[in-house]
Amino acid sequence: MSILQPVRGTQDLLPDAARRHRAVERIFCTLAERYGFEEIATPIIEFTDVFRRTLGETSDVVTKEMYAIMSCRDALSLRPEGTAGVARAFLSHGLHHEVPFKVSYRGPMFRHERPQKGRLRQFHQVGIELLGAESPLADAEVIALAAHFLTELGLSRMVTLELNSLGDTESRAAYRTRLTDYLSRHVESLSIESRKRLERNPLRILDSKDAGDRAVIADAPLLTDFLNTPSRQFLDKVCTFLEEIGINPVMNPYLVRGLDYYCHTAFEFTTPVLGAQGTVLAGGRYHDLIQQMGGVAGIGWAAGIERLAMLYEGVTAASRSVAMISVGDSAESMVLRLAQDLRKAGVRVDIGYSGSLAKRLKRANKIRARAAVILGDSEIDRSIATVRDLDSGTQIEVPFSSLATYLRYLLSREVEER
Ligand code: ATP
Ligand code: MG
Repeated sequence: MSILQPVRGTQDLLPDAARRHRAVERIFCTLAERYGFEEIATPIIEFTDVFRRTLGETSDVVTKEMYAIMSCRDALSLRPEGTAGVARAFLSHGLHHEVPFKVSYRGPMFRHERPQKGRLRQFHQVGIELLGAESPLADAEVIALAAHFLTELGLSRMVTLELNSLGDTESRAAYRTRLTDYLSRHVESLSIESRKRLERNPLRILDSKDAGDRAVIADAPLLTDFLNTPSRQFLDKVCTFLEEIGINPVMNPYLVRGLDYYCHTAFEFTTPVLGAQGTVLAGGRYHDLIQQMGGVAGIGWAAGIERLAMLYEGVTAASRSVAMISVGDSAESMVLRLAQDLRKAGVRVDIGYSGSLAKRLKRANKIRARAAVILGDSEIDRSIATVRDLDSGTQIEVPFSSLATYLRYLLSREVEER
């Protein structure tokens, strides 16, 4: 352990990376709002039971990826995902009468899993939840928002929408029996992990990445063949709505969420570009996420910001600033005063703190400042500043009173001629 390294599976977002994350979040926020989703922010810590009861005792996240927090009295955990907290908030505030309840969230999530490219222990998600809508129209709308978001990020050519239906409880129960029968007959070919799942959560075996498991799964019965009429009709409607707006999913009968309260629509946007960690956005429909929800249906999705940021190419450099440079100690307070005036007028200003004029100009160039504003006693006596255009190298004197207007004009001309 070295305190000079970040904790395994966590990473620092230095300004360039942070800017990419922020760009992804901004696009998300703008679009989520346009679809009628208001931002919600729930705590990063919750009672462990909030996750146990929503994600299920048998889910990967709850069985092996939770970060428990030492606390004197209560069992608390860092949130591994956003849906559970939203459902808990819905109950805490008795929002049953506020449905449809449409919210978006963003922020860090924590899972104790094996770190690798695209898989961190602290990562960030943006996501939405729509509670209290049973219509397949909601499924189509939620998927449309996901597709729109990825298109705005410029990723539409890189991603594929995969869709499946998990059916209603009746369809799933019938399928589960047949699947368990089939898998039990091939138990010797299954991985240890999948053998453990056989009893508790057999559907989850369908998305195993183990080669032996995959060979068995290839001949397994398909959930699609067990959908009863209402489930099939629901799926057909979702597909028709999507087609209506030009979204054509690829049906993937192996796509599962593996938890009891998930039903009907399950979907993922995947990309071949990121290797094994190719899912950038995933979601689905659920029912009664927490038992006390009493009949509330919901649908939502979450996307990993790190994975999106790796693919997103639309990030521009930081906006450019003006460097304020004082010559001689007596000019310092005037530099500070002018800098404040300029900032209030909307100009991004960077003050040089020390060193010779040459050194400060060097720094101004290094930070790609658009101009240097140089102030010495002779300038102050005349209430003017020397403004050097750092792109063209030309220099003029500008009265204090027109400084803000002139600099704003310079900054609006983004041409870098050198
Ligand atoms: P995976 O199959 O990759 O483990 P998951 O089913 O655990 O995914 P979800 O819980 O559906 O993932 O989370 C939604 C999205 O959050 C994922 O598609 C991915 O983009 C992102 N994500 C999940 N876990 C991580 C992680 N450990 N590091 C980075 N991003 C992650
Ligand atoms: Mg996972």
